[in-house]
Amino acid sequence: MVKRIGVLTSGGDAPGMNAAIRAVTRVALNSNIEVFGIYDGYKGLVEGNIEPLTKARVGDIIDRGGTILGSARLPEFKDIEVRKKAVDQLKKRGIEAVVVIGGDGSYRGALALTEMGINCIGLPGTIDNDIASTDFTIGFDTALSTIVEAVDKLRDTSSSHHRCSIIEVMGNRCGDLAIYAGIACGAEIVVTSATGFEEEQMLERLRDLDVIRKKRHAIVIISEKMTDVHQFAKKVSLNTGFSGRATVLGHVQRGGSPTPNDRVLASKMGEKAVDLLMHGIGGQCVSIKNNEIIAVPIEEALNIPRASRKELQNLFERLV
Ligand code: ADP
Repeated sequence: MVKRIGVLTSGGDAPGMNAAIRAVTRVALNSNIEVFGIYDGYKGLVEGNIEPLTKARVGDIIDRGGTILGSARLPEFKDIEVRKKAVDQLKKRGIEAVVVIGGDGSYRGALALTEMGINCIGLPGTIDNDIASTDFTIGFDTALSTIVEAVDKLRDTSSSHHRCSIIEVMGNRCGDLAIYAGIACGAEIVVTSATGFEEEQMLERLRDLDVIRKKRHAIVIISEKMTDVHQFAKKVSLNTGFSGRATVLGHVQRGGSPTPNDRVLASKMGEKAVDLLMHGIGGQCVSIKNNEIIAVPIEEALNIPRASRKELQNLFERLV
């Protein structure tokens, strides 16, 4: 039976990572497994920045955004020689297995380590919801709440000024934050990699909303990397009756206290990760599918095509 495990957070941070660290630590300690916190992701692992975690150390963190363990990117981790140093650091301390909380890049690192004899379990910690094996990632619900709060505020001022508010949200080429926010905020237009962006068509729709529907405002939610929203706002002002204003929400979407849903999801997933390691299983990632917590081989998870969310897009169109 595994006696010592490590836990690290890697890649972009997400609210709820702390709740996951807490769950992994407490569930493991309650099963008489020692837990070590590895600081700054794979970078701290290679450098040996590793300390034991206690129940008290993970107290008072369930409500905090970010990650108490810190996160970092270490592109060199793709190099087997660098990973050998990581394995040495773990072996030196008797740490047999690791829980990796992060996105798909972090999952690749976890799989590579598993192939070198260290069982790793991945937990989906990212606001983008861009891991296809799971319906929801830890942090998505919180980021969505942040977006909805911001868009609700923009809507108030937009109606007063006959404005078209163009809001760029994160997603790393996954449109989930945009489409969920579009439905939740009652937006007029949502643009994601699934819908594509045709500028002329967008301007035409906005003219219709102004002239035919006589809308006092228009809310357009656009996934990052689809277009330059500031340029588009200028075109809206020049070519429609609305005054176009762009807002890039940026990193505020990554922060804040995790929602209750994210805290519970992180706790369930943390528990599952420890259970898998206790059964000697590695190279898998924890997912939630149809409200059930399951394990999926990382290799399989990385190759699942992303859901198109056509049903959500259809719902959105029927609500406009
Ligand atoms: P995320 O986990 O949020 O997708 P990144 O893509 O930046 O973030 O990945 C986080 C870290 O995972 C990288 O800095 C690197 O250390 C490690 N990593 C990414 N891809 C690989 C890979 N193919 N092999 C080994 N490690 C990887």
